Amino acid sequence: MLPYGKQTIDAADIQAVVDALSSPMLTTGPLVDQFENDFATATDSNHAIAVSSGTAALHGAMHAVGICEGDEVIVAAITFVATSNAVLYCGGKPVFADVEPDTLLIDVFDVERKITPRTKAIIAVDYAGQPCDYRELRALADRYGLHLIADACHSLGGSYHGRKVGSLADVSCFSFHPVKQITTCEGGMLTTNDTRWAERIGRFRNHGINASAEVRQQQNTHRYDMQSLGFNYRLSDLHCALGISQLKRLQPFVRRRQAIAEHYRQRLSDVEFVDLLVDRGDRSSGRHLVVTQWDECRTGVSRDAFYHHLRQRQIGVNVHYRPVYQNSFYVERFGQNETCPNADKAYQQILSLPVFPTMTDAEVDFVCDAVIEFSQQHQQPQRRNAA
Ligand SMILES: *Cc1c(COP(=O)(O)O)cnc(C)c1O
Repeated sequence: MLPYGKQTIDAADIQAVVDALSSPMLTTGPLVDQFENDFATATDSNHAIAVSSGTAALHGAMHAVGICEGDEVIVAAITFVATSNAVLYCGGKPVFADVEPDTLLIDVFDVERKITPRTKAIIAVDYAGQPCDYRELRALADRYGLHLIADACHSLGGSYHGRKVGSLADVSCFSFHPVKQITTCEGGMLTTNDTRWAERIGRFRNHGINASAEVRQQQNTHRYDMQSLGFNYRLSDLHCALGISQLKRLQPFVRRRQAIAEHYRQRLSDVEFVDLLVDRGDRSSGRHLVVTQWDECRTGVSRDAFYHHLRQRQIGVNVHYRPVYQNSFYVERFGQNETCPNADKAYQQILSLPVFPTMTDAEVDFVCDAVIEFSQQHQQPQRRNAA
């Protein structure tokens, strides 16, 4: 099965991890600092804080900006459940904003409609790798005094108006799961320019303790103070060794992803019933996903039939994502009163095609052939004659 995404590991990555394994410190050593410094540089941000997953990064962001019981946080309706779960971890209430039908990025007008006196923050999701409209989101956040958080788990390596992802929101969150642009197996990162938030997150990932074991060792003291309730969300030196090595190849990884997306666009843009998401001209995508929308209305054929057609050809297509509020946990907790019509409609249509740096042009063509074949099977006979 051709997967929809996968990691690219080379000999230098393996050597970096092996070297780290024989170093004196396996966790919270010098490689954590180095990975953070390299990442801050790569994203044009003042601070980068490494954590154990993208989910931990989102939780840390909610903690940093002070989300607590009774606060509302506006979240894009189409995202991985981790985005809105992070709000719940802090006792807040996720309020879902609809997405634009052509990009599936958060709809800024709907965000404004969902703002109440309890709203404290917005989490924008750079769906499929394309940054959201951060100029509009910034203006809205400033007007209402809200914190702007980027779930940038799809968009590392992307940019908006020439500014890098990671520097576009108050806090940005990244994941290094193997399907993402770079991997540490499991791992995550937050970036921010706010020094106090960076310090808060640094404590939060280590039980709320004010000094790491490394610092205590250096200062020759056993004393520490737990100042707030935190977690063990640390990322080990082994993971960071892999991250440092992977980050060096971020640009070629993203360029190859973009080239594959362009190849798909060239072959599929005129295919009937199949639409690719739209790329806005003022930004560049990190291209985590290549998402198509299958026209169920005009064909009377479901997206699931499209899914099964491709799966039968050993093409590992996937659906990203079911609107979060449709999950039974959310229905049980909040009822079925969410209305995000674009998200509901998109969920009937979306299918993600494979894209990862080592995917070959022949593999892309193989996927395109299968997509075109399915489209042709569902054209009306008279159309086929006319063609
Ligand atoms: C991958 C992902 C996450 C979670 O990251 P993990 O590292 O798996 O915890 C959160 N949000 C989005 C949009 C993601 O794609």
